[in-house]
Amino acid sequence: MSQCRHCSRSAEFAVVGIVSTLRIKPRLQKCSRSEAFCKNCLRRLLNGEIGTASTLLGPVNDAYTELCRQLRQRSKANSKIESD
Ligand SMILES: [Zn+2]
Repeated sequence: MSQCRHCSRSAEFAVVGIVSTLRIKPRLQKCSRSEAFCKNCLRRLLNGEIGTASTLLGPVNDAYTELCRQLRQRSKANSKIESD
C-alpha cells in the first residue's frame, strides 16, 4: 500500500510526469518516478497550499536529466557510425 508522500496516510493517487523528445526519431521518452498522494494532500498541493514546485517538478527534473543523458549517448553512438 502506497503512502501519501506528504502526510503518510494511504495514498489514493500517483502523479508522474513524462518528458519526451519532439522532432527526434526514434522518439525518446522518460517517465518520472511516481509520487503518491492522498486526495486531500494532492488537492492542497495543486492549490499551492502545501509543498513547493519541486515536490512535483523534482522527479520530472530527474527524468529530464536522464533523457538528456540518453540523448548524448545516442548522438555519440551515431557519430561513431558516421565516422566508420
Ligand atoms: Zn496526504
